[in-house]
Amino acid sequence: MSRKLFIAGNWKMNLSRARSSDLAAALVEEIGKEAAVDTAVCPPSCYLMTVQQALGVSRIDLGAQNMWYEDQGAYTGEISADMLVDVGCKYVICGHSERRHVIGESDEVINRKVLKALSEGLNPILCVGELLEQRDGGQTMEVIRQQVTRDLEGVGASYAGGTTLADRLTIAYEPVWAIGTGRTATPDQAQEVHAAVRTLIGELYDETLAAELRIQYGGSVKPDNAAALLARPDIDGALVGGASLKAPDFAAIVRAGVELSD
Ligand code: PEP
Repeated sequence: MSRKLFIAGNWKMNLSRARSSDLAAALVEEIGKEAAVDTAVCPPSCYLMTVQQALGVSRIDLGAQNMWYEDQGAYTGEISADMLVDVGCKYVICGHSERRHVIGESDEVINRKVLKALSEGLNPILCVGELLEQRDGGQTMEVIRQQVTRDLEGVGASYAGGTTLADRLTIAYEPVWAIGTGRTATPDQAQEVHAAVRTLIGELYDETLAAELRIQYGGSVKPDNAAALLARPDIDGALVGGASLKAPDFAAIVRAGVELSD
């Protein structure tokens, strides 16, 4: 089963309007025509429209870093799925570890976001990952199993236009101890968890869906470690934080994916 690699950049709370636009324009120049892998950038929400304009008709898609699960109303500071679609988003990150552990988002909230994103036509990138003490305590698989199961509760397998959950959802395995720390999971460590996530998806849905679903790795992915990670059989792309803020670095990661796709 060959899954198209998917490389997404999470810009987090960085840059300015001008720098967001410049970064998007530089990426269009470097990788804007790349068709062998799917690519997306997720800027801060206030720069979504600026970045959308800079991406233009390139092949780089737009994603948001977060959303709220209600349609509209008294949710000060929040943005709906509908609003994200309205400004051109294709993807939305749900359950990033910074939202789980800094903002305090629960699996129940993340599950509602995933359900809402899917029902409004957005493709969720669902992040899961264990804390360092959980890895050291041998709880990695249990934590990942619990997050995936809870976050996908009630999530259907089939969607409009004959698409399946595998066309719509990406799971990003992001060990929390590897995010922004410069410490990357080894390709073996990442592969082991990715394979377990795929097995779990097979149990929750079926083998076909499990074989088609893309599972990204995230956690200090850089140009010099991308190829080794992406070469592993169950690693179908990367969610890139720090290195996505530099056009040459993000482009190099995308190119590593392109070379593996040839
Ligand atoms: C992330 O933000 O999802 C991430 C993986 O960050 P970094 O690449 O900086 O570790």
